[in-house]
This record gives sequence, C-alpha cells and structure tokens, in this order.
Amino acid sequence: MPSSDPAPTLSLTGGPTPQLNAPTVQVALPLPLPQWFDYAPPPGEPPQAGMVGRRLRVPFGSRELVGVVAGIGVVADGGTLRTALDWIDAQPLLGGELWASLQWLARYTHAPLGEVVSTALPAPLRRGEAVPDTHRWGWQLTADGHAQRARLRAGTRPQRLGTLLAEGVVDEDVLDARMEDWRSAARALAKRGVVERIALDHQVPVAQASAGPPPNPEQAAAIAAITRATGFGAYLLDGVTGSGKTEVYLQAIVDCLARGRQALVLVPEIGLTPQTLARFRTRLGIPVHVLHSGLNDNERARVWAAASRGEAQVIVGTRSAIFTPLPNAGLIVVDEEHDGSYKQQDGIRYHARDFALVRAKALDVPVVLGSATPSLESLHNAQAGRYTHLRLKVRAGDARPPRVRVLDVRKRPLRDGLSPEVLQGIAEHLQAGHQVLVFKNRRGYAPVLLCHDCGWTAPCQRCDAPMTVHAGGRRLQCHHCGARQSAPLACPDCGSLALQPQGIGTERLEEHLVDAFADYPVIRIDRGTTSRRDALETQLATLGDRAGILVGTQILAKGHDLPKLTLVVVVGIDEGLFSADFRASEKLAQQLIQVAGRAGRATDPGEVWLQTHHPGHPLLETLVNGGYHAFADAELQQREAAGFPPFAHLALLRAESQQVEHANAMLSAVRGLIPDDAAVERYGPMPAPMPRRAGYQRTQLLLSAPARRPLHGVLDLITPQIHALPQARKVRWSLDVDPTDLY
Ligand code: ADP
Ligand code: ZN
Ligand code: ZN
Repeated sequence: MPSSDPAPTLSLTGGPTPQLNAPTVQVALPLPLPQWFDYAPPPGEPPQAGMVGRRLRVPFGSRELVGVVAGIGVVADGGTLRTALDWIDAQPLLGGELWASLQWLARYTHAPLGEVVSTALPAPLRRGEAVPDTHRWGWQLTADGHAQRARLRAGTRPQRLGTLLAEGVVDEDVLDARMEDWRSAARALAKRGVVERIALDHQVPVAQASAGPPPNPEQAAAIAAITRATGFGAYLLDGVTGSGKTEVYLQAIVDCLARGRQALVLVPEIGLTPQTLARFRTRLGIPVHVLHSGLNDNERARVWAAASRGEAQVIVGTRSAIFTPLPNAGLIVVDEEHDGSYKQQDGIRYHARDFALVRAKALDVPVVLGSATPSLESLHNAQAGRYTHLRLKVRAGDARPPRVRVLDVRKRPLRDGLSPEVLQGIAEHLQAGHQVLVFKNRRGYAPVLLCHDCGWTAPCQRCDAPMTVHAGGRRLQCHHCGARQSAPLACPDCGSLALQPQGIGTERLEEHLVDAFADYPVIRIDRGTTSRRDALETQLATLGDRAGILVGTQILAKGHDLPKLTLVVVVGIDEGLFSADFRASEKLAQQLIQVAGRAGRATDPGEVWLQTHHPGHPLLETLVNGGYHAFADAELQQREAAGFPPFAHLALLRAESQQVEHANAMLSAVRGLIPDDAAVERYGPMPAPMPRRAGYQRTQLLLSAPARRPLHGVLDLITPQIHALPQARKVRWSLDVDPTDLY
C-alpha cells in the first residue's frame, strides 16, 4: 500500500489492531520508487511519532528490506496491511537536523527518501547492522617487545612499526597516517607477543597541539570574521594558491574546539593526502577522524557512530562525509569548493558543497568555502551578498607568485609535443637542482590511432569515441567504457601498415622525457599509475628533494607540497579552449591556475609556461594578464548573456537504452507531462554529446528556468508521473538537478 504524504500523528490506546482506518508506520525503502510504504509496526507497540527515524526490517514481495520510518499514517482497510518483521533500532537512528536535511535533499533532488537515506548511511547501517561501538584503540610494545624489537630485520614493515611504537602508545588513527598497511605487521607481531592492542580513552591527545605560524593581516581578518560569527553564515575564502587558507581553517577549527563543538572538513578526493592529515593532527593535537573511499565499511560506520555520539570532534572526509551526523556542530569547511568531485554523478546526484550550505544553515553554524579558483556559482553568491567574501591576495610566508609565460608554438618544431624552448627550460631548471612538472590532461600514449594512408581512426565498438593508444602504441583502451584490445597491425579499412598514434598523452611525454633527460628521474603520475590511494605519495616520495621531472594529469594539480618545484610546463591545453560544454572554460581556467600554483611554493621563485597554438585566445589572455578573477568576471557576463547558470537553474533528464527510440519515447512522454504554461524552457529530447556509450544510446531533455521555484514546481508535479510512465520501464533514466556536466 503506497502512501506518499506524511500524515498527522495518531495516538492509540492499544488493543487489537483495528481493521478499519488502521494506523501504520510509513516506511522509506531503498527502492527507485517515489512513495513510502505502509506497514503495521512489528508486534508490541502501536504506531507513534517517536518511531520516526528508527530502522526496521520489512517484507517486500518475497524479499526482506531494511527501511526507515518516515511518518505515521493510516489506511482505510488494514486487512491488506503487511506487518513489519522487527525493529533494528530501539531509538531513532536518524533525527534532528540530519534527518530534516536528508528530507530536504530528497525533495530537492526529487529522489526517493529511502534512496537518499541509504546513500547517506555507511553500508553496515544501511544493511541493518547495529551502530558499532566506538572505542578508540592504540598499539604499544609489550614488556618483552622492547627487547625483541632490536632483533627485527631492518627495513621490514614489522621493524618500522616497532620503531614507531618505541616511544609509547600510538593511536590507530595515527598509524593509518604514518604507515601503509601497518595492520598486517601489527597482527604478525602480536602473534609473537611483541606488540599489543589497547583501548584508549576518548580524550587522550594524540600529540601536543602545536601552534602554527602567526597569521598575516589578511589571514587574521579572515579568521576574525569566521570566529566572530554567531550562528549561520557563509564565507567564501578566496585565496591564491599558497596564501594560507589551510591555516585559516585550522585556526577556525581551534576556536570551534575551544567552544567544545565539532568541526567537519570536506576535501576533494585527491586533496586528502597523508600530508594534509598529518598537518591537521599535529596542529590540533586531538584525533582527527577520517572518512574516504579507501576505508572499509566497518571503519566508516565507526566514524559515523563516533560523530553521532559527539565523540569525534574533527572529521575530515571526501564527498560523502557531508552525511556525517553532527549533534554538536560548530563549523563546516569545504576546501577546494570548486572541485568537481563534490558532485555525485550517479545514484543520488547531490552536490556536497551545496548540501554543506543547507546543513550549516540548519545547524546554525558558519560554513567556509575555500578555493584559489572559486566556482562561478560561489563568486556570484559572494557578489550578490549572500556569502561574506574573504580575500587572501598574497602568498603566505616568503613564497612569491609564479611568473607566467605563454609560449606560441605555431610553426615551431614539436618533438612529441614539446618545443625546443621547453626542453631547454626543463634542462636549466634540472641543472639548478630543481624539479619540473609537465602537465598534460590526457593519459595514455596518444588520444587516437590513425591510418596515415586512408584516414581511418580506431573507434570504440561500443561508444561514439576513439580508442586511446596505450603502451607505446601496442594497446588500445576506451576511456569511456573501459574496453581494451591490442592495437591492429594493419589498417582494417585499407590494409596499410602506416598506423600512427596521433597527438600526445602523458605516456608519450614520459617516453620522450626519459630519453631526453636520462640522468634525471622521470615520474609519471596519472590515473593509470595511481589506482591506490597512497600511490601518489609513495611515488612523490621516491623523488624526494632530488632534481627530476613529474609528468602527469590533473592529479598533480593538488596534493603533496613540493618545495623544490620551480617550473610547471602546461602542454597542449588547446582542446579545452574549444569545447562545447558551457563549463569547459571555467574548468580549464581552474585547472591552469591550480597546476600553476604548484610552482614556487617555497623560497625558490617559480615559473609557469603555457605551450599553445592559440596565444591570442581570450581565455588565455584574460587569465595571464588579469588572473582568475578577471577571467571569472568576463565568464560570468557571458553566462548571464547566454542564460546559463548561475543565472539559470537547470535540471537534466537522461535516458539510455540499446534502442534509441525507447529513450526518445520516454523523454518525449516526460516533455508531454510539463504544462504548456510552465515558466520553464525545455530542450530536447536530443542526443547526448556522446550519443552512444558502452553500447547504450543516450538521449537527454534539459529543463531551464531563470529561478528555482518554477523549475522545482514542474519537477514536483512530474516526477511522480515519470515513475508511472510505461515508457520509463524500457529505459534507464535519471534526473539530475543542477547538473555540472551536460553529457
Ligand atoms: P593554501 O591552503 O592556501 O594553499 P597553506 O595554508 O597550505 O595555503 O599555506 C601555504 C604554506 O605557507 C604552508 O607551508 C604554510 O605552512 C605556510 N604559511 C601559511 N600561513 C603562514 C603564515 N602566516 N606565515 C608563514 N607561513 C605560512
Ligand atoms: Zn587505412
Ligand atoms: Zn567505449
């Protein structure tokens, strides 16, 4: 029995369940269906408001599902009502602000509440497990262990762990940050009686908190503004790379902790490095709880539980950490707020930064959005006075801004994409004992395999895209669907053997640089080489302070501080200058500024060279002469003129099917549901920019309105009807509110 609206609370006086007007618990289930489901509660207690937010197990068809009570309702005929199996929680698991915010998120994304809840909960809780206990644990050497430690073989993991523990108990949290895969070493040593695990008290400091550098005047003003806040306020901390934004966060967190409150810090996927965590831990001197995709399910659940009990005082995590319960919140920070990884691109398509604002408002605490390259949305909000705009215009300490040089490579001989000037420049920086970063946003050897005789290029069989050449030309790989094959020996169209990789990827740059600079280490870093979380750190550590070259994709734009890095060479940005996506310029500008910011972060001055065939392109000219803000101002004007976000609000319906007619029929039917007089523009159904991916035909319908209200009015009206469309059964479809990518 579906029910879609929360109904008023009923109070009952016990007795047998009446068959007419039977009271029910309305259960949100993790299903792609918009409604809640009525059940009789598990035997024992009659339905009552205090049950909202408790998990329970219910029968659904022949399955058993874990749901959350979303409301108390009543059905006319209780005879058909199924009875829930049993309670999982004796008390509501979800309540207060988090529960209200999740309901807001379900309404805003027009997604089923049950799916939102299941996205928000760590997997064990989603599966119906009990909230785990949250003792903190540490390791120490046993009485015998101190002596035995000396006999451990040098350089082995057990020996390194022994050294770490030589000075006393070390929190597991700290071990995670200090040593890779310490757990296997700890288990092995525990068996031999060398080390032991002990429970820690929550409040033990992990270290003495250390003071940071005294803030400069800009930092001091920003810290004062944030810490003066009483209640909600949004702060855009707009500071050039290396201006000391992290110092501002740290000081604001120290203040928050001094008031006995919890702080939540969101960082982008690639920004959560052991170096960052170590900095937080040493500065704050208390355990920092970490949430990221590398944790196992139980670890995530423990952090969630510790936060919900108020024991976790500082939580640092990636996108989904925004779902952390904060019963005692004091501050939310979103670092690199412009970063694309904050937007979830499947399932519940939420934006963690935007949701952070909603939560901060509901919690009545300040939220700090930090970036050297703020999103146009946030700049617009700051200009409109909705956010307090805090600027850090100078680099902290002694570091100077890097010098930027645009290299016109038209008519210049390029060798594997590198001009003679660039090779010369690299040589000079290496000879001076420095490090060089060569940035190219294309992994693989080359983007295309081309037949020089007939023009054939190797396509992916399942996508409308060429295969990328890998392994020096021996393998082909599709970066969209993952398909792999070996490269053909001859052209399948004309039989010619003249097959040539066209264009430049990071592998090809690496090959050339290894050749040209045989005396120096060359380290390639891209998604091909860093599938493991700490691989980036490990690879950077192999370089250390030596002169050498890093070559890679935007993974290198963030992360580990590299004080010896003085030259950044950006190779071939030209593809990005002419993309059809209206956000492409913004992304390119952010990438260029971020990667340029890696140069000269310490005392040695830095240089950035942009190699291009379009030195006069307005984006480059504005960026180089005026900086990011000049670019952003110009771009905002263009967005306003063209009616794009942030001056319009978008929703994108996507449908995909092996037969394009099904996808089109579905979206045409959706379009037909929209009232003619709605103040919403509709575009489509039309093919997606990449019409075929992984064998599926993809179509989309874009809705746009100058204000949120009419757009959401239409979505409120049509979303339940979309679920009921017969055409919807034949396709995979999704609704993306505020899409960041229109593909
Ligand atoms: P951002 O987060 O803006 O990139 P960081 O906070 O990481 O900048 O600071 C960049 C570097 O400058 C770090 O090494 C940091 O320790 C140092 N730093 C920050 N603030 C100061 C300051 N007020 N005085 C001296 N050094 C500072
Ligand atoms: Zn050919
Ligand atoms: Zn493909």
